[in-house]
Amino acid sequence: MGTVLVEVELGSDTRTVLDDIKNRVIDGVLVWHPDRLQRHPRELEELIALVEDVGSVQIETVTAGDFDMSTSAGRSIARIVGAIARKDSDDSSSRLKRKHAELAAAGKLAGGGVRPFGYEPDRLTVNPTEAAVVREMATRVEGGDSLRSVAADLNSRGIRTSKGNDWNTTGLKKVLMSARISGRREYGGEFFDAVWAGIITPEQSERLRRKLGSRTRSSGRAPRRYLLTGGLLRCGRCDTPMVSRPTPKRRRYVCSADPGNGGCGRMSAVADPLEALIVELVLYRLDSPELATAITDSQAQQTELAQLHDEVAADQAMRDELATDYANRRFSRSEWMAARDPIQERIDQSRRRLSRLSPTSAIDEYEGHADLLANAWVDLSLSRQHAIVRAVIDHVMVQPATLGRGFDRERFKPVFRL
Ligand SMILES: [Zn+2]
Repeated sequence: MGTVLVEVELGSDTRTVLDDIKNRVIDGVLVWHPDRLQRHPRELEELIALVEDVGSVQIETVTAGDFDMSTSAGRSIARIVGAIARKDSDDSSSRLKRKHAELAAAGKLAGGGVRPFGYEPDRLTVNPTEAAVVREMATRVEGGDSLRSVAADLNSRGIRTSKGNDWNTTGLKKVLMSARISGRREYGGEFFDAVWAGIITPEQSERLRRKLGSRTRSSGRAPRRYLLTGGLLRCGRCDTPMVSRPTPKRRRYVCSADPGNGGCGRMSAVADPLEALIVELVLYRLDSPELATAITDSQAQQTELAQLHDEVAADQAMRDELATDYANRRFSRSEWMAARDPIQERIDQSRRRLSRLSPTSAIDEYEGHADLLANAWVDLSLSRQHAIVRAVIDHVMVQPATLGRGFDRERFKPVFRL
């Protein structure tokens, strides 16, 4: 039996299409955009149930590719995309939420970076040999084997990481802590069904994460990580850069009145939700049309940068030449100084302009690929995360909290660089 695809715009005739699928008159649906599949979530759920009944139904969309409705991952993508399509409100908070959902759904686009151990290079298909190793690692570590001993054993058996290297405790822990191996994506502390299959169950993943997470904390060696240091946060009362100052219970940023900080001491912000918000803003910004404009500007900036470098080099050469001539007594000290000073002044000016031009290389590989960055974010080093935030945001003004409002994103006013 060949594939019969019908091109439809679901809505008034949804009933007919669902019936046709049920009676196997058609075995596929092709629509322009996923929102045509489902004006209402109930229609999607009906379609999903039908697919499970009938077995294989091909669902294709022109604008968003095909959905494999026979896997739970495919179904959750369809649900997310459907939810996005239904949202038509354009206020910024709903835009952010939609972005959030899109990023979560973007698991199907995950590409680039290092191939995750346990998966084929398409990052979707499970590699059976490596998956068996992942299950073994998980069972052994959960059973009490140390990361060190498991890594040593893998190395002695000639099992290599996806990069072809020996295993170490860090790499092993990264694999076991990843939401990926349980077929999930983690974003902003939430889990989403991913389009790739899991190797271990979400339950086992949770147990491993608790175990390995608490081990890090109890060792006391894990440094406290603060993303928004180095002047990224400024006190809205006194404009002083805020610093990290944890309480025993939570990570915090404060405006410190200590000598050396010189702030007003009257501003603080809890770190976790604030950092999550800033990451969300950065990811959103990287996918926005404003960025395209900013990138063009920054290319102009690159040209200016190159010119300034040339000017500085030329001025330095001239200054050195003058110094040589003076050394060879071709002219007097006062003549030399009269010639040298304006050159030196020019060099200083160019250097000041150079230092003001912001390098954007930290984000080059992520421009317009916020989905890639969202996937990679948790695995990036703190300094890399910091560099990316820095490239996008100049600073964030922190306003005083309103009593009893909990986390209030309105308190934080980002000033974007890009
Ligand atoms: Zn202050």
